[in-house]
Amino acid sequence: MTKKAILWFRRDLRLFDNPALCKAAREDYEIIPLFIRDTGIEKQANAEAPGGASRLFGRYALDDLTEQLQKFGGKLIAKQGDALTILQNLLRETGASAVFWNRRYTPAEIARDTEIKQSLKEQGITVESFKANVIFEPHEVMNGAGSFYKVYSPYRRACEKIGFHDAPADILEPLTFARTEIATENLDAIYPYPTAPDWAGGIREYWGTDIRQSAQNLLADFIKTKITDYKEARDFPAQDATSRLSPYLAWGVISPLEILHALEPAPASKGKEHYISELLWREFSYHLLFHAPQMATENFRPEFNAFPWRDDPAALQKWKKGQTGVPIVDAGMRQLWQTGWMHNRVRMIVGSFLVKHLLIDWREGEAWFKETLIDYDLANNIAGWQWVAGCGADAAPYFRVFNPILQSKKFDPDGEYIRRYVPELKDLPTEDIFEPWAAPSAILHFAKVKIGETYPAPLIAIDKGRDRALQAFDAIKTGTD
Ligand code: FAD
Repeated sequence: MTKKAILWFRRDLRLFDNPALCKAAREDYEIIPLFIRDTGIEKQANAEAPGGASRLFGRYALDDLTEQLQKFGGKLIAKQGDALTILQNLLRETGASAVFWNRRYTPAEIARDTEIKQSLKEQGITVESFKANVIFEPHEVMNGAGSFYKVYSPYRRACEKIGFHDAPADILEPLTFARTEIATENLDAIYPYPTAPDWAGGIREYWGTDIRQSAQNLLADFIKTKITDYKEARDFPAQDATSRLSPYLAWGVISPLEILHALEPAPASKGKEHYISELLWREFSYHLLFHAPQMATENFRPEFNAFPWRDDPAALQKWKKGQTGVPIVDAGMRQLWQTGWMHNRVRMIVGSFLVKHLLIDWREGEAWFKETLIDYDLANNIAGWQWVAGCGADAAPYFRVFNPILQSKKFDPDGEYIRRYVPELKDLPTEDIFEPWAAPSAILHFAKVKIGETYPAPLIAIDKGRDRALQAFDAIKTGTD
């Protein structure tokens, strides 16, 4: 008699290196591929609730997965609602006896999955989960005292000591899919494409919609043309020098093991070494969130609970729209809006400007990134923001306030990135583009820039903002307000 298994796709929207799929194929189950938009869990702040841009990317990835499954004779069933109820209904309707999935690591999803596993097992269903989206399980890398790592470098060394032994799993053919008449919900109802207005044009143009193929092309191109210089070039936002694999990793279109495996034949170089260390930053974020789940919403360092954040909705809005009057910050925020992605160096600059120069709570920035990043990933986003704000584990010290002018002069020396995203400044000479408010009036005139009219005056003077941030920091150090 044939046995059937539900393969519950989550943020692992791929067939290659999918251990849950391998398990079903290896044990000759007829597979029922299922994707659930869990609308209950999305409401929880400590779950991965994709924002608009991430949902759009997820939709492209689901369309792509649907096609890949069709090539193997499978049909993706998509549902939305409560995950346990959907699974129970589908088990009943199909007579499946097993559910397989790949593990997720946000606090709310861990709690939900534990509950589902227990509940289904009590009903006699075989349930198994697998490691698929990380190189190391968050609990696999612990220090000598049996505790988790709070500092990245020893964490990285511990990972290197364990070594990179796992190989990605091939698609085990033949894949046999159960013939079911189960209706799928239309993906348009689950993750609709934006229509009125269609804000996704820039994202489609930048990323394409052939998702799995794009991930493979980007990886191959990165290894062929970029990896050797990665360590130096990765900080320059005008250059296309990083892999841009983050959205594909976020939706599990590609796995970290697949990336590692593809890197193996590349000759040893500082770039290759550094790239692996960046993948380990991702692992470190997962490690931290797993062991300190409260950091999804709270400061990792509790002394920051007394930080005197300012409530300034008007400034926050200008930051979101790339209208702060500080060119590198505006370029970054507009890149984000147009393409759904922002270069890592600029994420740090815009983040620092928000939390330090504007003294706005990092959670406001985190929420905006969640809504607008196509690579939104709870663990990375939280770790990134808490790092920038100085309240995280192994964070940049609060008193190290990024100077956006010096940062742009150093990392965008020709002003190319600024010109690309802030075109109203494009005719300024390079020496004036970083702080246009200080340019001689004749230069502004020739470049058709009118501060306060064609381009905003800065929200705050850079030095003044820095001094104010340091005073605020002193307040939590000394306990005064
Ligand atoms: P590459 O330089 O090619 O690096 C390869 C991979 O390594 C990335 O895809 C990513 O998975 C990982 N990686 C690289 N840098 C980091 C880092 N600093 N922290 C953790 N992992 C890293 N990354 C996300 O994937 N999702 C987020 O929501 C996110 N939010 C961030 C918020 C802030 C405030 C900051 C400062 C950083 C954030 N990052 C986030 C990390 C980083 O900016 C992106 O992973 C990176 O820019 C993605 O581009 P890439 O794939 O070309 O990176």
